[in-house]
Amino acid sequence: MRQAEFNEEFAVHGRRARDADAGDVRRLTILGATGSIGTSALDLVARNPSHFSVAAVTAQTNVAKLAESARASGAERAVIGDKALYGELKSALAGTSIEVAAGEEALVEAAEIPVDCTIAAIVGAAGLRPSLAAARGGWRLALANKECLVSAGDVFMREVAQSACELVPVDSEHSAAFQVLREADRGAIEKLVLTASGGPFRDWPAEKIASATRDQALKHPNWSMGAKITVDSATMMNKGLELIEALHLFPVSVDQLDMVVHPQSIVHCLVSFIDGSVLAQLADPDMRTPIALALSWPKRMAAPTKRLDLCEIGKLTFEPADELRFPAIRVAREAMKRGGTAPAVLNAANEVAVAAFLEGRIKVPDIPLVVEDTLERCEGSGLICCAEQLDDVLSCDNEARSVAIESLNGLSRL
Ligand code: NAD
Ligand code: MG
Repeated sequence: MRQAEFNEEFAVHGRRARDADAGDVRRLTILGATGSIGTSALDLVARNPSHFSVAAVTAQTNVAKLAESARASGAERAVIGDKALYGELKSALAGTSIEVAAGEEALVEAAEIPVDCTIAAIVGAAGLRPSLAAARGGWRLALANKECLVSAGDVFMREVAQSACELVPVDSEHSAAFQVLREADRGAIEKLVLTASGGPFRDWPAEKIASATRDQALKHPNWSMGAKITVDSATMMNKGLELIEALHLFPVSVDQLDMVVHPQSIVHCLVSFIDGSVLAQLADPDMRTPIALALSWPKRMAAPTKRLDLCEIGKLTFEPADELRFPAIRVAREAMKRGGTAPAVLNAANEVAVAAFLEGRIKVPDIPLVVEDTLERCEGSGLICCAEQLDDVLSCDNEARSVAIESLNGLSRL
């Protein structure tokens, strides 16, 4: 089956319900359980103790929070990515029957435990192998880990198609599009428009953005999220990553994808059709709404989120994105158009640059500079090509990180 057909088949309708109870998700694994998405998912689980059971929870380094999550959710297994922390996790869970494991392979093994639904909420390309392992299982995948689609979208969607995995996006804009497109005439879609809050620097002049601190970048106006995605929102690279994510999830071409800045983050996505109709999804900005949808689809479960009061909100405003102050949008769009491994390079370089920013080594405008420079260097050395297999993507990701580090080191010369 061709890639475009996969998109048609899987993205709009998700995967067809495998049986009458497909929406009745009970046994879960949460990859990235200690993060912002993982914590929100566990909150929903805790509120519905008779409905859900947890097979496994994973994290990278936060032993205390992982152990606490495992105990509180009654998880059967807890896995820490950092192997050196095995002993610490074992002690933290002493006296319980929770199985303990550690290391990268253990994360993949946890993702392979058969469940009704895996919540893929690891941040970054580090989530690719575990998320893919879950997709191969053929059960529902509630996908928050957008970087795995950005890096390896073609490979990933091919595996989703082959395993009959039911992929339900968790990213709020994609959850919105998923709902809007559910009953839509796919041939009649004109445009799919993702909304962006504009992040903390939306109305800042370029000079002020150039001297923004880490704390300022981490102060998102609407969403409470992990550090990496919050910085991505500040540079607006997040929307670029999301355009690429949408390209893989929905039956649209590059030219049909667009974005608009909507500071209130109430409308999450708009889809326009050839008859002039525009369908949108609205909700208070709280990730428990899209996570609940991914857990209960095609039914709906109650989520303890603020109810939308449009009269209280008063005004919903929209404005174009300023690609001069936020060049990451242009850089990401170009990588999307270039295709092949360009988005994998984009993602890898962005991860390296965001980490350097969080360590205080570079400034906000350096992030898109490093990413663009890395893309140019990789294009020059023939690294941007077509990736048929997961290993091609992983080695491209690896090489792009080394190139991005060189680019960072030469930053003053950029
Ligand atoms: P976070 O930083 O709060 O949590 C990340 C989780 O991944 C943690 O549990 C951490 O232990 C784990 N992790 C980190 N590095 C890892 C590694 N190398 N190997 C294995 N596990 C590792 O991140 P988050 O904000 O929860 O975001 C998770 C994913 O969801 C990201 O891909 C993000 O883009 C996406 N997402 C998040 C939100 C949100 O509101 N937070 C919204 C939309 C999409
Ligand atoms: Mg989003």
